[in-house]
Amino acid sequence: MMTGTCFCKAVRYELLAESQMQGLCYCTDCQVLGGSSHWTSYAIAIPDFRLTEGELASYTYDPGSGRQVTRYFCGGCGTQIKAQSDELGVASVNAMTLDDQDQFSPQIVYFGGSAPRWCDVDPRLIPFEEP
Ligand SMILES: [Zn+2]
Ligand SMILES: [Zn+2]
Repeated sequence: MMTGTCFCKAVRYELLAESQMQGLCYCTDCQVLGGSSHWTSYAIAIPDFRLTEGELASYTYDPGSGRQVTRYFCGGCGTQIKAQSDELGVASVNAMTLDDQDQFSPQIVYFGGSAPRWCDVDPRLIPFEEP
């Protein structure tokens, strides 16, 4: 079973299933929230995420798609643990918080068009098409 934790270790979680959708998100929201060119997305069905220790703070907003997104953080150290769309039923877990980061193998790119100009998007990644 895959497990993960935040920077201060107050929050711990486990994932009940492996992700079928792993990718890098270059949207500007992820850039501001993460201080990086992209977010590492390990996407799973919402019920497959189980909080085992600590509590998550959250922030809900409309990113412009008309669908609400909630970002979940450790209230202590601020590590973002997951971004979630209740409407889509999908939780995008921060793959860098997995205890075993080698489990992450991104194949998809989200919003590659908004990548910072100093950053090269891996051309082997498949652009995500909104269904
Ligand atoms: Zn923490
Ligand atoms: Zn994003």
